[in-house]
Amino acid sequence: MASNNDDIPHTGSLRYDEDQPKIPAVAISTNDANLLSEVIDKEGTAKIYLETHCEMLPDILSYNVIGEMNGTERPDEYIVVGGHLDSWDVGHGAHDDGSGCVQSIEALRILQELDYKPRYSLRAVMFMNEENGLRGGREYALQADKKNEKHIAALESDSGGFTPRGFSFTGTDAQRKKLRSWAPLLNPYGLHDLGSPGGGADIGPLRSSGTALFGLRPDSQRYFNYHHTAADTFDKVDKRELELGAAAMSALIYLIDSKGI
Ligand SMILES: [Zn+2]
Repeated sequence: MASNNDDIPHTGSLRYDEDQPKIPAVAISTNDANLLSEVIDKEGTAKIYLETHCEMLPDILSYNVIGEMNGTERPDEYIVVGGHLDSWDVGHGAHDDGSGCVQSIEALRILQELDYKPRYSLRAVMFMNEENGLRGGREYALQADKKNEKHIAALESDSGGFTPRGFSFTGTDAQRKKLRSWAPLLNPYGLHDLGSPGGGADIGPLRSSGTALFGLRPDSQRYFNYHHTAADTFDKVDKRELELGAAAMSALIYLIDSKGI
């Protein structure tokens, strides 16, 4: 689960099938894995000492956090932009997904700063519990359905705060064609990767009600150096790259809002 060799193990979820024994499992670093492989190759067997202090704690109540700009023409229809608030506690969760949260807020702030009056209502949503069960994303979609809030599009940033390269997409062929028709507007800003399959985990549950899903696609070369590790700290996020991503998201929201999808 790493794209580099270092001493930092990556954390994540572990699932057991119902009928399988619950054997303990831990992640080890790439350097440790290589060392272990070498020893086993040479000796045929290895004896290791392993100590872990993991435990399962009870659930507590937490919340999605939502900011909103009211639509001028269709205030009951929504375009959502979001990231997730929770992170693995070994680091700061700076790239995963502090970046997506601040970019979502910034994407709306930019439109406000330009005094743009959106046709649809725009929401920045910081989803809770992405990493451990998607309960924030699921509950959001459930509430949207209950309140009859039509969501025409949702955009998620959850691939790190790196230089933006484009947007992934899940929806109809006609919508994909429309996204690609905006290439002349987006290409000059380095956004070339438009419409390959994707979206986002938190916005995924909105798909069943027909919402078009978009995901910011940043340069992914360094994401797994940090993802889910103690190394995912704020000093690893470059401010300029983060801002470019937020501006790209703002541009896409503007296009969807003004031209429809
Ligand atoms: Zn994430």
